[in-house]
Amino acid sequence: MAAQQVIPSPRLVLVIEKASGQPVSRCYQCHKCTGGCPVTGFMDLMPHQVVRYVQLGLEEDLLKSKTIWQCAACRTCISRCPNGIDIAAINDALKQRTLARGVQPALPAVAAFHQAFLNSIKGKGRVHELGMMIAFKMKTGSYFQDVLLGLQMFRRGKLRLLPEGLKNRERFRALWQGEKEGQR
Ligand code: SF4
Ligand code: SF4
Repeated sequence: MAAQQVIPSPRLVLVIEKASGQPVSRCYQCHKCTGGCPVTGFMDLMPHQVVRYVQLGLEEDLLKSKTIWQCAACRTCISRCPNGIDIAAINDALKQRTLARGVQPALPAVAAFHQAFLNSIKGKGRVHELGMMIAFKMKTGSYFQDVLLGLQMFRRGKLRLLPEGLKNRERFRALWQGEKEGQR
């Protein structure tokens, strides 16, 4: 059978460069990012492959990959990359694109946590840990997991009952809106 021809899609590079703020097209596949990444044992695409797939426009493979959810955002890759490419930022842009397009995430629990975290920040400008964990548990159905730990944290004052807001909400809203527009 003839090998499938890969047709590069310049559009995906442009979209992800805009959403992530990263110069994806500068990557020349030196693999230094992958050489330093501590999470490659759990990834189905290596960090350098994520960048290459974006260059080639292989969107479906990217949005269905575990790697975009597995990335720990430790930023070792950017410290090693000769072109200053932050792959965690690229993965974040790909996560948002996965959710916006209604693609089933490869790691649903991680995606549920990601969404609960962002929704919590969106509401008040700060994370409300208790509200975020309730939203996460409702989404995943893991109601009783970590209950004892949660009670211990509550007793020690680590979980607030009510969310705290920001003083400058208008500035936060403008930042949030700018971030969303950058991802379109
Ligand atoms: S280190 Fe940078 S240039 Fe090298 S493969 Fe990774 S992203 Fe590309
Ligand atoms: S930020 Fe993500 S891709 Fe980069 S080294 Fe850390 S875990 Fe690996």
